[in-house]
Amino acid sequence: MLDSTDVFVIGGGPAGLAAAIAARQQGFRVTVADGARPPIDKACGEALMPDAVAGLESLGIVVPATDAFLLGGVRFLASGLSAEAAFPSGSCGLSVRRIVLHRIMIERAAALGVDLLWQTAVTGISRDEVQLGGRSIRSRWIVGGDGTNSRVRRWANLNLHSRRGLRYAFRRHYRIRPWTDRMEVYWGAVASHDPGLRLEESLLAFPELNARLRGVETTSVVRGSVSSNHRLKQVWRENVALIGDASGTVDAITGEGLGLSFRQAVVLAECLRSGSLAGYSAAHRRLALRPLLMARLMLTLDGHPRIQQRTLQVFRKRPEIFRRLLALHIGNLSPLHLALDGLTLGWGLLTA
Ligand SMILES: Cc1cc2nc3c(=O)[nH]c(=O)nc-3n(C[C@H](O)[C@H](O)[C@H](O)COP(=O)(O)OP(=O)(O)OC[C@H]3O[C@@H](n4cnc5c(N)ncnc54)[C@H](O)[C@@H]3O)c2cc1C
Repeated sequence: MLDSTDVFVIGGGPAGLAAAIAARQQGFRVTVADGARPPIDKACGEALMPDAVAGLESLGIVVPATDAFLLGGVRFLASGLSAEAAFPSGSCGLSVRRIVLHRIMIERAAALGVDLLWQTAVTGISRDEVQLGGRSIRSRWIVGGDGTNSRVRRWANLNLHSRRGLRYAFRRHYRIRPWTDRMEVYWGAVASHDPGLRLEESLLAFPELNARLRGVETTSVVRGSVSSNHRLKQVWRENVALIGDASGTVDAITGEGLGLSFRQAVVLAECLRSGSLAGYSAAHRRLALRPLLMARLMLTLDGHPRIQQRTLQVFRKRPEIFRRLLALHIGNLSPLHLALDGLTLGWGLLTA
């Protein structure tokens, strides 16, 4: 094992691997260490929005068609009503198993020559050095991609700024032929504020979905996780930068966590190439703005069945509003459009 590197990435999840790939693409020597062994699974909706697919492409990754299911748009369902919109023409999202995406990202990192250390937990950092139990490796830059409960964040004194609306979420896989190419979002309690809720119980709140899944073979265990919006004041200090969930999260309902980390990886690698992290916090904030706005918008509907119903009525009556919000969500329109469509939606809600 090398005793020095240019960029040491702590955490080999999607964000850490994206950071490693982007830094390697800039010509750095890169090492990644993760305490777990791949492929690493995690509770996740496993949806990549079109901007996330583009983000992967900028890392040189194209998910083979045999490993993914194409998503053509989004459908919201609530109280017997539904409304849907297609992604802007020429773009599509992907549904890809987390462990498959992890394998593909590892293959790309390995092909580029990233040094990958699995089952290797990082136990501490000091200036220009990363500790792995009894050993240490010198590194010019240290990247914390170690997830929501990041220790790197603590070690670098980059504490949480705000953590709002903690929600509990579950995932499970069912062996069933897809009945739509839309990513379906059922408004209700599957991502819930109640820590005591379980998947089977929460499905009862969605009779249509429950009927589809009743008696269907399951192919994975239930995995739970918490989801929230949280931000940091600073995402770097000295030679340490954070990425992915370690650097703040957007609520799972946006389906944006992965795509966001791919875009962060690219700007972080550009900062490293320039020799300074000074621009990273501002760029990071800019990238998070749109997903955070969309998360706020969607969470405003959470727990308000009447507003959900009215929103779906407006979307059905004025499908162009939903289409434009979706385009905005995936970065195809500017925030100015959000303001305009927000006003139209608000007016629609008042007059529906
Ligand atoms: C319920 C739910 C559904 C979601 N659905 C979607 C979705 O559909 N689409 C989407 O884009 N996003 C979704 N997200 C968000 C997405 O899953 C996360 O943003 C993404 O997993 C973040 O990846 P990460 O690499 O930052 O963190 P992680 O995936 O948590 O990776 C962190 C890694 O760091 C390692 N690690 C931790 N500490 C150390 C240490 N000391 N030393 C070495 N290694 C260490 C861990 O072993 C782990 O492998 C969802 C999130 C939730 C909670």
